[in-house]
Amino acid sequence: MSKYQVNDNGYYGNFGGAYIPEMLYPNVDELQRSYLPIIQSESFRQEFDQLLRDYVGRPSPLYRAGRLSDRYGTNIFLKREDLNHTGAHKINNTIGQILLAERLGKKRIIAETGAGQHGVATATVCALKGLQCVVYMGAIDIERQAPNVARMKMMGAEVIAATSGSKTLKDATNEALRDWINNPLDTHYIIGSVVGPHPYPDMVARFQSVISAETRKQLLEKTGRETPDYAVACVGGGSNAAGMFYHFLDEPSVRLVAVEAAGKGVHSGESAATTVLGREGVLHGSRSILMQTEDGQVIEPYSISAGLDYPGIGPQHAWLHKSGRATYAAITDEEAMQAGLLLTRLEGIIPAIESAHALAQLEKMTFGKDESVVVCLSGRGDKDLDNYMKYFGF
Ligand SMILES: *Cc1c(COP(=O)(O)O)cnc(C)c1O
Repeated sequence: MSKYQVNDNGYYGNFGGAYIPEMLYPNVDELQRSYLPIIQSESFRQEFDQLLRDYVGRPSPLYRAGRLSDRYGTNIFLKREDLNHTGAHKINNTIGQILLAERLGKKRIIAETGAGQHGVATATVCALKGLQCVVYMGAIDIERQAPNVARMKMMGAEVIAATSGSKTLKDATNEALRDWINNPLDTHYIIGSVVGPHPYPDMVARFQSVISAETRKQLLEKTGRETPDYAVACVGGGSNAAGMFYHFLDEPSVRLVAVEAAGKGVHSGESAATTVLGREGVLHGSRSILMQTEDGQVIEPYSISAGLDYPGIGPQHAWLHKSGRATYAAITDEEAMQAGLLLTRLEGIIPAIESAHALAQLEKMTFGKDESVVVCLSGRGDKDLDNYMKYFGF
């Protein structure tokens, strides 16, 4: 068993676990007991693989970005999660969880969403399977993210505004948890990243691990080696990075680089650089590293990319950071926006601003000409066009 994977008690080192109110024990206990037997069963694997192929469009290409490679004097490969149905890696997880919910006999799905990307990926699989879908979203986020709210409604989801507190993601999460407590029998809660109580971080990482499983095969075809010298990915909660790292965790020759959002600067007071600013504590049901005040209040994170402004990281990332297995870097809004423009001009690919954080890290690294670097291009930039246009004044 890998020392970087979850142990039998639901921990990565001293991180993870299930810190939940007693009223949630039955729901979480059911998941803990059933998730591995279900997702490792032959019928699950078959349907999961078939939907990833025919519905999501997998395998996603591994593209050697020629002009970007020339710029950095090495071999840069982009893992094209941006080409997935719905435009990002999030669908890999929601497909897995909807199949699990079906097998648990659940009829109703709930989710929380911040920018709306996870809400859309959840509403999509609920339409696919004909299950009822309720998405909790902060009232302020509903105003800010109108196109995603429209997508969810068009797919038949009910979007409920969280009107308490700061009216953003953490309030939506509280509402979703309250709903789950009240509806333990017929409802499954689809969490959107490698966060939450055990078994969510492990379960979501397994669904996203298709990213590195495919990468190994594709690299072997293209370079004659299954492993890259570097694997680079951005981190909000950490699911695309967990998927990109998964099958390389026990290959010490692969250097793992995770990129957080530094916002307007790590120490500007407007940042989401959790590993730099955070301390150990409990957030959303697991022990990890989070941004908090002296007396333990969660600090509101900031990033220009809505998908990265989360005040914590998943427990596996906390452990990869603490153990030194992966390196955690932080990229500012400005650096990410420039990297997004650079990829667009050099390769004709507009990346999500989240993914642009991973690309920006390349500027800070040095490579050998025969090395290979895989960057997880977690999503496409169509959703960010307004932001890019305002930023650059196009
Ligand atoms: C949501 C999102 C992220 C951040 O989530 P992780 O769980 O850290 O992967 C990154 N990129 C895109 C395109 C997203 O939509």
